[in-house]
Parts: sequence; structure tokens; C-alpha cells
Amino acid sequence: MTIERVGIVGAGQMGNGIAHVFALAGYEVLLTDISGDALIAAVALIDRNLDRQVGKGLIEPLEKAEAMARIGTTQTLTDLGQTDLIIEAATERETVKQAIFDDLVPHLKPDTILTSNTSSISITRLAARTDRPERFMGFHFMNPVPIMQLVELIRGIATDEPTFKTCEAVVAKLGKTSTASEDFPAFIVNRILMPMINEAIYTLYEGVGSVQSIDTSLKLGANHPMGPLELADFIGLDTCLAIMNVLHDGLADTKYRPCPLLTKYVEAGWLGRKTQRGFYDYRGDVPVPTR
Ligand code: NAD
Repeated sequence: MTIERVGIVGAGQMGNGIAHVFALAGYEVLLTDISGDALIAAVALIDRNLDRQVGKGLIEPLEKAEAMARIGTTQTLTDLGQTDLIIEAATERETVKQAIFDDLVPHLKPDTILTSNTSSISITRLAARTDRPERFMGFHFMNPVPIMQLVELIRGIATDEPTFKTCEAVVAKLGKTSTASEDFPAFIVNRILMPMINEAIYTLYEGVGSVQSIDTSLKLGANHPMGPLELADFIGLDTCLAIMNVLHDGLADTKYRPCPLLTKYVEAGWLGRKTQRGFYDYRGDVPVPTR
């Protein structure tokens, strides 16, 4: 199946990056959000991020102008009905995503592929509520989308091969690399990454090392570009906790129990960079460890 027009639901952190990379790769993009302000902010951010790519000599000014011209916005979800591929990137709450698919489905072309960028919700369960579980799958970008190379493609139990192959070809056209994951809690990247981050928090909780010594150990001792606690702050500690809970509940294994210190930071509203405090305090000129 040929994909030319792409609909993106949700213009937040991920939605704007997804619109950016699709428009740059030559797709017509229609971006929707319930918030008009989010749509305005997303287009402004895409413009700035494309400018940065022009500044670095990664793209030509004309490519930027053409990409911007390919991006349309609407607050009416059903306007996405005529697109060939839809990527849902709205808030990570199952009821929100279900309501979006319920509203969209009656307006879709029969062969439109539906996908979700969810980090943790079951693709099979989301697909089962739609009229096209065989043309439904997970399309999981990494943050920040224009920079990160990987897209995890997740097969729901009913996803058919033509749908998977079509999405695989789309990822290649974006200039990114895809990996295939079956639909089990947190897929591949977060299944491996989050327990490592959680273990780093246990290491801090048990007093084995300080924030500084844990992050330095992993950066210099394992060649990680960011320490695990720095990375947790970047992802958002609420997101880390939510993913650990999905692993713990979904796999029913105590090895996935979230560290009580992670829960404590989230209870305090210290969610990492987005609230200016997490394992580091970002309110000054340089990040200062909070423990
Ligand atoms: P975000 O909070 O930045 O953005 C979500 C957007 O969805 C908001 O602009 C909100 O107004 C909009 N929205 C909410 N309900 C809507 C509706 N009914 N219709 C249309 N728009 C609606 O969230 P995000 O970080 O961009 O995450 C979006 C999705 O991407 C989630 O499923 C998340 O799990 C996934 N994801 C996030 C990351 C990450 O690092 N942030 C990485 C990979 C995947």
C-alpha cells in the first residue's frame, strides 16, 4: 500500500517531532490536537527545529520551506479521515486513546492503517476495539524524534504482514531504522532500559553510591552517553514510574517492583527536567544532585 498522507493525533512533545520527520521525508501531514495552543506551539517548534537543522547544514533552506508547506493542522479529529496512515501520539492514558479511535474509525477509508506511539499500552487491546485489528500496530518513536534513529514497530496479535511491511517501508523512507517487537509490556527498549534505571535508583536508595558516582560510573564504566539518573530526569520520573508499573503488573514478577525512592520523588512532584527538579536540581546554571 502506498502511503502519501499521514494523520498525527496529539501535537505534544512526540507529535511535533513525528510531524517534523514525516514532512521532511515528503509526506503530506495533518496534525490534530484538542488544544489549539498545542497546535500553534507545535508548528512554531517544528519551524525552530528545522531552522537548527539548516544552521547545521543538515538540510537546505528550500527543504525546510517545502517541509513546512506540507504540514496542515486541524482541531477536528475527523478531518484525518482521508489520510493513509494515522499515528496516534496523544496523552498516555488508555481511555483517551480509546475515545480517539472510537471517534475516528467511522470516518476512515477502509484501508487506512491505524497506529499508536504508546510507550506501554497493549497494542492488541487498543486494536481490538477498532474495526481493523489486522491493520493496527504500534509505531513507537524515541524522544527527541528528529534526532533518535530508532522506531520500534510492534505487532499486535492480529496485525497482518502487509501492514507491518508498509510501516517498515515508511520508517526506511524517514531515514530511520526499525526493529520488530511483539506486543508484550514495554516492548523492547523500555523493557530493558527501565529496569536498569530502576536499579540505578535502588543503588542510590540503598546508599551504594551518590547521584554523581552512579552517573559517572555508568558514563565512564559502560560508555553510556548519559548516566541513568540523568536519563531518568530527561524522560520524566512519572513516565519511568508508569512504565515500571506496567512491567510489574503485566509480567507479575517482583523483579520489576518500582523503587520506593522513585515513587517518593514522583509524590514530591520532582519529575525531572520538566519540573526543574528530580535527581538533579536544574534551577541554577548547572544541575546540582539532590542527594
Ligand atoms: P504530551 O503530553 O507532550 O502530548 C500529548 C498531547 O496530546 C497534548 O498536546 C494533548 O493536548 C493531546 N491530546 C490529549 N487528548 C487528546 C485528544 N483526545 N485528541 C487529540 N489530542 C489530544 O505527551 P508526549 O510525551 O508527546 O506523549 C505522547 C505519546 O507518545 C504517549 O502515548 C507516550 O507514551 C508516547 N511516547 C512518549 C515518549 C516521551 O519520551 N515523551 C517517548 C515515546 C513515546
